[in-house]
Amino acid sequence: MKFVSTRGHAPAVGIDDALVAGLAPDGGLYVPESIPAVDLATPRATLADTALVTLAPWFEGSRIESQLHALCGHAFAFDAPLRPLAGPGDYLLELFHGPTAAFKDYAARFLAGALGALRDPAAQATTILVATSGDTGAAVAAAFHRRPGFSVVILYPDGRVSPRQAHGLECWGDNVHAYRVDGSFDDCQRLAKQALSDPTLRARIALGTANSISLGRLLPQAAYYAHAAAHHHTASGHALNLIIPTGNLGNACAAYLARAMGAPVGEIRLACNANDTLPQFFDGVDYAAQPTRATLANAMDVGAPSNFERLRHWHVDDAALRAAFVARSVDDATIRATIRAAPARHDIVPCPHTATALHLLETLRTQGDGRDWAVVATAHPAKFDSIVEPLVGAGVELPSALAACLARPAHGAHLDDSDDALARVLLKTGASA
Ligand SMILES: *Cc1c(COP(=O)(O)O)cnc(C)c1O
Repeated sequence: MKFVSTRGHAPAVGIDDALVAGLAPDGGLYVPESIPAVDLATPRATLADTALVTLAPWFEGSRIESQLHALCGHAFAFDAPLRPLAGPGDYLLELFHGPTAAFKDYAARFLAGALGALRDPAAQATTILVATSGDTGAAVAAAFHRRPGFSVVILYPDGRVSPRQAHGLECWGDNVHAYRVDGSFDDCQRLAKQALSDPTLRARIALGTANSISLGRLLPQAAYYAHAAAHHHTASGHALNLIIPTGNLGNACAAYLARAMGAPVGEIRLACNANDTLPQFFDGVDYAAQPTRATLANAMDVGAPSNFERLRHWHVDDAALRAAFVARSVDDATIRATIRAAPARHDIVPCPHTATALHLLETLRTQGDGRDWAVVATAHPAKFDSIVEPLVGAGVELPSALAACLARPAHGAHLDDSDDALARVLLKTGASA
């Protein structure tokens, strides 16, 4: 299988090169030349089994093809249960049972394993540089922690992540270095992009990234949709429709891929927070990236969804793309009201991200929609206890992985919002790795 750039000005490459490069040399995103049809309707015993079937066609001819089974076993070692909610046809797809209690754990662990397997043991150590609005950094840190040949530098916006998210970024130590930046996520992203495109820096240290545009993050995420849909379809005879809390569109693109490969996934709806770039577009307004607005669902505070280029690539024109998805914006007041009502209404406590999707489900039911819908639970509510607990008036139980992380000391440091400060940090980290 070959991968091409969404911008069409880069040579087609195999999966190994695409994984290591992250971004295509013309600035585009790698997409598969074609989407293979796979038997994803047959339910497999474990999530790791489904992941292997889903990922195998992409890795045909890869140097690590023979290790794919082990890589899937490692990345998909924890379950993604599809739980029935109180209402008929209402389900919750729980993607938060990994080490950092968010869905990004699956793909971050797969990417770390794959890059580790592809690595030449004699080569210089690689520094993975990642800008994060909260959850990505923790998942990447956990996935690369103590992995030989890698160190991680995390940049996150000071004061704009929840206290537990901050601890989750700073609790690793060893080869993981977390830095608080005065500024927004966009400032962190700009610093990271500048460093990654700085030729003098790149000549001295091996820099890599692990953000959501990497194919190694995107492709594995199709597995949990394929797994849930196959089991649901076999048991009920119905396709599984999905409502996905959306920021950079990585998770939604993966659901799209799962369906295009043959998984019995029905409609895909996108739940956004007050950052309404996508709802505007899908309602017919010309695409226009916007500045990011801070909301309660901070991992979705995205004004320029990076994977939008992939969705455009997969549709002949904007009209076709608009016909394929529905996207809705959910404001903070509605997120709060949805969380407050959720224990009585659905017998769950959702995180603020999951609450956006839950609200869309409630709207569909009010409109009389009777299909089977899975709300995708992207993070565990305990990560956002300071928002959620006052709303529901009760404590949320801490998953054991999060408790272990909170019990470790924090190791973060402050970083000035300047290219020089970051370059110094990277040179020091690169030299000691
Ligand atoms: C990253 C994240 C999202 C958004 O996912 P995308 O793939 O960027 O659309 C939603 N919810 C949570 C909890 C996240 O961490």
